[in-house]
Amino acid sequence: MRTILLSVFFYALCSVFCFGQNVQNSKVEGTSFRKCGTYEVYQKQMATDSGYKFRREQVEAFVDSYVKEHPDYDDKTVITIPVVVHIIYNGSSQNISNTRVTDQIAASNKDYAGTNTHSMQAFSTTLKANTNIQFCLAKVDPSGHTTTGITRTSTTVSDFSSLDYSERHTSQGGCDAWDVTKYFNIWVCNLGSSMCGYSEFPSSPLDGNYGSAINYLYFGTTGSSAPYNLGGTLTHEVGHCLNLYHTWGDDGGACSGTDYCNDTPNQADATYGTNSGVVTDACTTTSPGIMYMDFMDYSDDINYANFTPNQVSRMQALFATGGALVSLKSSTVCSGNGIEEATEINNIDIYPSPSNGLINVMFELSNHDNVTISVTNMIGQVVATVEKENVTKVNVPIDLSGQSSGIYLVKIQSGNQTLTQKVSLIK
Ligand SMILES: [Zn+2]
Repeated sequence: MRTILLSVFFYALCSVFCFGQNVQNSKVEGTSFRKCGTYEVYQKQMATDSGYKFRREQVEAFVDSYVKEHPDYDDKTVITIPVVVHIIYNGSSQNISNTRVTDQIAASNKDYAGTNTHSMQAFSTTLKANTNIQFCLAKVDPSGHTTTGITRTSTTVSDFSSLDYSERHTSQGGCDAWDVTKYFNIWVCNLGSSMCGYSEFPSSPLDGNYGSAINYLYFGTTGSSAPYNLGGTLTHEVGHCLNLYHTWGDDGGACSGTDYCNDTPNQADATYGTNSGVVTDACTTTSPGIMYMDFMDYSDDINYANFTPNQVSRMQALFATGGALVSLKSSTVCSGNGIEEATEINNIDIYPSPSNGLINVMFELSNHDNVTISVTNMIGQVVATVEKENVTKVNVPIDLSGQSSGIYLVKIQSGNQTLTQKVSLIK
């Protein structure tokens, strides 16, 4: 206990004096600074779930021996990981666009290729490695049908800030993972105002919570919120799923923690905000300082620049023969074609008929699809058109009050199917 109290005392002293040389790095964590819940959730899981602990230790033992044998990740073949993005939304602002998803995947692909343009500052650019890992949106869903690699689930849950993996379960207001051995699952949802994301570290075998949850505010580029609007949150979180720890070793400011990588300098605590040049701290006091631009630190997206060669070795180990993610490497769901699902138009009701001007067109589609409703008179002129995108239930009023009495044809078209029904207008 005395040791703990002394440590607290010296830490308090240190927080006043040691960081004096570096004002930028002494920023206090707050709602405006990056927060990742992964390590906190991980510690709890390791303490309470002996099954997970065992499966997790299997991975670490394998990675440890692989990295010793392959310190420079000698297999340079590019691995492309199929991704599914589950958007869990409560209100339309959380239901982010497909473009934001594709922007995010493109940004993370640059980060993992080591081709983003952000500076290594005082560090050698040889520490900005190409991981040879890339990501693609799945084209085939688990039932063999064509997919965009994006699912959308409306939820009544206001936020998922309890970090209990509930966004990963349909029964808890989220969406169940797609087969984790074939798809890397990403959940985009509301994690509250201060949490950027959290992930589950890989275990062997994987479980249904494996993947990353990202706050919708910080997912993608255009339309996401500064200073985490360059896609860095997903790059960081996937790093955890690929077995990387935070660069400061999550040791509460001591210099004893480790991220199991020799080429990331010892670091006291997380770095927040945007820095430049040499930044030192209590654990690394000389140039080039701490590696605050590493994706596994907490810097702003504009600072994020690199994964180191040792970090790449840890990731690559997961894809080696016997590794925990070897099945993701061979998954084919990003190539080939899925089965196109034919859309059926059902339960059509057009009322009233006869009508004195206003008609309602109601029907259901068997799948989400786009639909066009057009009304033509008996000489074939189109007098009204309505289009709806990505719907299953339609109930639209169409105003024919400007038309003369007579018979009209209402044509409903979706996918390859077209249905026509008559309606009469009596004025
Ligand atoms: Zn993290």
